[in-house]
Amino acid sequence: MGSPRSTRADVRALPPAHRAFYEGARASIPPERLVCDPLRTLAYGTDASFYRLVPKVVVRVRSAPEVQAVLALARRHHVPLTFRAAGTSLSGQAVTDSVLVQLDGWKGRRIADGGAAVVLEPGVIGAEANALLAPLGRKIGPDPASIGACQVGGIAANNASGMCCGTAQNTYRTVRAMKLVLADGTLVDTADPADRARLRESHRSLLDGLAAIRREVLSDAPLERRIREKYRIKNTTGYGLNSFVDFEDPLDILLHLVFGSEGTLAFIAEVTLATVEEHAHRASALALFPDVETAARATQRLSGGPVSAVELMDRASLRSVEAKPGLPPVLRTLGDGVCALLVEVRAADPAGVARAAEAAGALLAGLPTVEPIRFTSVKAEYERLWDIRRGLFPAVGAARRIGTTVVIEDVAFPMAHLAAGTVELRRLFARHGYDEGIVFGHALDGNLHFVFTQGFDDAAEVERYRRFMDDVCELVAKRFDGSLKGEHDTGRNMAPFVALEWGEKAHGLMRRVKALLDPDGLLNPGVLLNDDPRAHLKDLKALPHAHELVDRCTECGFCEPRCPSRALTLTPRQRIVVRREIARLGTAAGPDAAPRRRRLERDYAYLGDDTCATDGLCATACPVGIDTGKLTKVRRAEARSPLANGMATLAAGHFEWTAAGARTGLALARTFGALPILPEAAPRAPRAAFEDVVKGRDRRAVYFPSCIARTMGPAGGDPDRRALSEVMLSVLDKAGFDVRFPSDLASLCCGLSFESKGFPRLAGEKARELERALLAATEGGKLPVVCDTSPCVQRMKAVLDPHLSIHEPAEFIHDRLMDRLRFERREGPIALHVTCSSTKMGLEPKLRALAEACAEEVIVPSTGCCGFAGDKGFSTPELAASALAGLRGALPAGCERGYSNSRACEIGLTMHSGVPHQSIVYLVDACTSPRDGAEGRPPGAAT
Ligand SMILES: Cc1cc2nc3c(=O)[nH]c(=O)nc-3n(C[C@H](O)[C@H](O)[C@H](O)COP(=O)(O)OP(=O)(O)OC[C@H]3O[C@@H](n4cnc5c(N)ncnc54)[C@H](O)[C@@H]3O)c2cc1C
Ligand code: SF4
Ligand code: SF4
Repeated sequence: MGSPRSTRADVRALPPAHRAFYEGARASIPPERLVCDPLRTLAYGTDASFYRLVPKVVVRVRSAPEVQAVLALARRHHVPLTFRAAGTSLSGQAVTDSVLVQLDGWKGRRIADGGAAVVLEPGVIGAEANALLAPLGRKIGPDPASIGACQVGGIAANNASGMCCGTAQNTYRTVRAMKLVLADGTLVDTADPADRARLRESHRSLLDGLAAIRREVLSDAPLERRIREKYRIKNTTGYGLNSFVDFEDPLDILLHLVFGSEGTLAFIAEVTLATVEEHAHRASALALFPDVETAARATQRLSGGPVSAVELMDRASLRSVEAKPGLPPVLRTLGDGVCALLVEVRAADPAGVARAAEAAGALLAGLPTVEPIRFTSVKAEYERLWDIRRGLFPAVGAARRIGTTVVIEDVAFPMAHLAAGTVELRRLFARHGYDEGIVFGHALDGNLHFVFTQGFDDAAEVERYRRFMDDVCELVAKRFDGSLKGEHDTGRNMAPFVALEWGEKAHGLMRRVKALLDPDGLLNPGVLLNDDPRAHLKDLKALPHAHELVDRCTECGFCEPRCPSRALTLTPRQRIVVRREIARLGTAAGPDAAPRRRRLERDYAYLGDDTCATDGLCATACPVGIDTGKLTKVRRAEARSPLANGMATLAAGHFEWTAAGARTGLALARTFGALPILPEAAPRAPRAAFEDVVKGRDRRAVYFPSCIARTMGPAGGDPDRRALSEVMLSVLDKAGFDVRFPSDLASLCCGLSFESKGFPRLAGEKARELERALLAATEGGKLPVVCDTSPCVQRMKAVLDPHLSIHEPAEFIHDRLMDRLRFERREGPIALHVTCSSTKMGLEPKLRALAEACAEEVIVPSTGCCGFAGDKGFSTPELAASALAGLRGALPAGCERGYSNSRACEIGLTMHSGVPHQSIVYLVDACTSPRDGAEGRPPGAAT
């Protein structure tokens, strides 16, 4: 079955203007990138904020001409548009009930000016930009905590920042040039003199209007002073009025106004940023002060000192994580008023770090502390300290009542008011009954986040929230003249309060900016400026109970880049959003609740269940550890008919027949009704003899060839046609190991295929059978077990008797064989694919090290899931095709071999890269010979 398309009835159900827009868009956007069905508009429309608006139409755009076409249609039919990058925004600026324009691709990136700058398209994830720059010791300036998921378009349009970036390294400060599409469709490259000249002609009144605002600002000395003053601390409330005082040329003013404009002024098609130094060496100290006032004084002293980050955490923050294993025990003993500063110093070398730490310590000398301040440059120790900070948001998220959401607010106080601001925020928590609330933040910038849980499902709760936010705004904006949004931008959340913070005159200027750049008001209306004083209380998102496996989801979106089905169907977050809506409709009143629910369920079968690879890679990025694949497995199990269960039981009970059917995955897929599609480079049944190797050596191992490896041998195009087991035995033999196979091998399987297909009972039975065989073969766990297939190893490690010492082959070779083998490096690049299970087992460094011992150049094109997922590659081939769409282009010329550690994944990788992929064991065998004496070391020699 293919991806459900939006139906004619879905199109007919659109209001006339949106229907006309949709019909018009068909001319320039292919149907698979035009969406108006209920499931996908809901799913794609979700962001990380606590606002819910469902777009009527979603358009996925790939190029500037497509954006121009969409803008022209929007103007023609007077239909508002909202741009969307990764949807990790927290203030409601990335949601809409009109047309959502999602970036699809836009991954172009290149280093410029020898690394001093980088040119980025808006779909590049912040961490991808940094990975490109890392070899040069550089990074982009903005460093939001969401950098592993959020994209350059959103980072720029929110003017995002984080722990180290302060007010000096955000996109506003580090931009060199941009390509913009204005609301009228004009594409301008601000780095191109011809473009600039053209714009001065064609958009004279727009640029004159901006120049006039600048003159007004400069002629009003108190306003000019106030603008300069307000940007000394972080401020993302309203438009960046500092553009008018920092720049003279209206075109430069325009360029800088776009930062923090939340897609309300123009579309960002490309941005060139100056890069900043990324020092490799660090040290951190957790300084514990008896009260907030002392912590604030310490911050003032550190300000301007040689520190890269100073993170404040109040007592409630520390308490929220104190029970987590591995964190310093002192957290559990602290008095009530204690306030912590987590201080970090960075430098190019260890001596520089030591000097900076000493200087920072000297700045704090004489201040009372709970215990002496000690900087550590030991990675494990400072990571433990940063785990405290990293754990704060998830801790509140995990502890919340189901049905409530975690709200993270983001204010900034002038430095002089940091202590009073923190204390007063806590008073407001107490006054409004937010006992679980915590306060932490980037102290050097006066930027405090406060996190609390909030139900939006009843009117009294919404009213409590209203009163609380009114008090917060009064406290921050009026009493302390701070920023209502330091980093997260205004959104819908603070749009009604911009005038309160900035005053009527500045607010009026912002309105003129909007009118000049978007005269028809079509770009993200309702966001950033909003006349409705209750706008922040509308369209609030309830998070109903859907399933205990996913109820803790905060819809942050951090999992999305990891998911192999993200471009094909849904991401983990989107699956959860749909399950929540289905649950809500299950108890909703009204005649259309049941049919809507049925439609969502029907479409979810493919979009949610069938295209989930159940690899669980989403859990590795989730702050609260949610593995959406587990939900899919549970649903598959619930959906199994008695007949399917009976057939699976037969297959499990006579596994040797099933496996002997040549390809276990295919056989299972056939048995359970999935349609197998054989790839061209299909694996052949391997010719292998599983005979013990006994030469009387004292190094011994038990080798368990997985059922996949036993049935899916090398493909016709593979360079080495030997069975994997033969190659494995060759390597083990060279390193001087005798090998034993478990008895009754043909019937053994770890149960993974059964588990992922929704047969948990049978999966458990197969695992117990294997456990018995391995315990016998290893003499009760005395000998190590090597299994050649990474996903099976992961399952075996998780479910089999802990006395068994089970190893993935690269791990085993790396840990126990490397010093017994002589390695000879191959010329030219090779590709290495790190499977999801290897990532989850933390094996990537060992795989890399082993590959680097064998090859001159090792390319790891992606750390994501290949989407092949056992036999999904046969039954749902479009999943791997989508997950691996970029693989071919990511491999350099001359790369003719690829390696991994899971046969099923290797088939998909071969198909979609055009480069044969085999187990890394083949590579090791080809590049090694025995070290002197290793092969035949006599019994009794040291192991
Ligand atoms: C747990 C968590 C922690 C966070 N921590 C931080 C933090 O430390 N600091 C911080 O600043 N933020 C933080 N955020 C908020 C958010 O992640 C960032 O602001 C991020 O930069 C948003 O990027 P995005 O790709 O998700 O953009 P989106 O949410 O998709 O969009 C953001 C805005 O940009 C607009 N937009 C997107 N693409 C374009 C384009 N090409 N042209 C014009 N407009 C466009 C959208 O319309 C929207 O208004 C956090 C969020 C979460 C969930
Ligand atoms: S599953 Fe986890 S990472 Fe994904 S959106 Fe939910 S909380 Fe965030
Ligand atoms: S298990 Fe894999 S495919 Fe399924 S939601 Fe998680 S990352 Fe996506």
